[in-house]
Amino acid sequence: MKIIVIPGDGIGAELIPMVQATIRPLLPPDAQIIQAEAGFGAYTRRGTPLPEETLAACRDADAILFGAVTTPPDIPGYRSPILQLRQALYLYANLRPVRSLPIPGSRPGVDLLIVRENTEGLYSGIEETSADGERATTLRVITGAASRHIARTALDLARTRRRHCTLVHKANVLRATDGLFRRAAYTVAAEYPDVATDELLVDTAALRLVQAPEAFDVLVTTNLFGDILSDLAAAHVGGLGVVASANVGERAGLFEPVHGSAPDIAGRGSANPTATLLAAALMLRHLRLPDAADRLEAATLAALATGIRTPDLGGTATTATVLAAVTTHLFA
Ligand code: NAD
Repeated sequence: MKIIVIPGDGIGAELIPMVQATIRPLLPPDAQIIQAEAGFGAYTRRGTPLPEETLAACRDADAILFGAVTTPPDIPGYRSPILQLRQALYLYANLRPVRSLPIPGSRPGVDLLIVRENTEGLYSGIEETSADGERATTLRVITGAASRHIARTALDLARTRRRHCTLVHKANVLRATDGLFRRAAYTVAAEYPDVATDELLVDTAALRLVQAPEAFDVLVTTNLFGDILSDLAAAHVGGLGVVASANVGERAGLFEPVHGSAPDIAGRGSANPTATLLAAALMLRHLRLPDAADRLEAATLAALATGIRTPDLGGTATTATVLAAVTTHLFA
């Protein structure tokens, strides 16, 4: 079993080594853990945010644990390594579970899963700026094949949950691209009569997600909409410090917190490790270590329930204190 660990930048680089140490006892003794670099730090050291050997190591891995990277908006041609990895490894599905947590402010009864197409849409990377810098375009690419693929993934997952799937799109305006996404998804949904499939325009979906997140089970949508809606949904359960995601494809999976490198709090030792711990639990499940995944999830939630919480959750604990509490619960 080969696991690539990419700490990245900012709080990613702080959290990953600590979380790696926390989960080490849950892995088989012969599991290989290989460090690799990516992100803005790699760019400044190596001239590329995704060195060749990182990509090669990821191609050969069973799983990748990814911290977070800083993506500077003002370097021409700079492309986020996480977007490159999702495309290069064909990690076509980004699964973002959002569940109520035992912390103040977390709304009870929320248990939804956002299934986001991960390789195309507005994150196609096909962009152009005119010579005078006054006109810019980004190509929104939608294919029938990727839409059917992501719809099937969502419907299969809905079968393991409450059998309700909501297609989220903006086909009334984006008639070509989301028209295709919607048609393709409904073609697949016809094969799943046991799953109640409905649809919402993305703006209405945002309103409903704010008003009644409990009403949702699985949502399936295109790249940008999924990115935005999952941050929105995270607000119901404690914010970005507590939500994780899985990027899955044919072989290796890449597991990461939903949050970024958080430069505003980097270096303080107070970043919330919950999202990275839950990402590691998703990774353990992918590696077919369900007992280890259950233990890690249970210990993470138990530590939160004791009231040992970082400042984003209203507490005063450091990252290290939270992780010590998780370790105590792991081996209690
Ligand atoms: P962010 O997710 O880094 O931070 C948003 C807010 O949430 C900040 O106030 C931050 O302090 C807080 N926050 C995030 N994670 C936290 C945690 N674990 N504990 C406590 N508080 C936490 O988003 P941003 O500030 O918009 O972006 C910062 C950088 O991260 C940018 O360069 C952006 O491109 C990058 N980014 C990377 C990824 C990724 O690596 N997958 C995802 C999103 C943003």
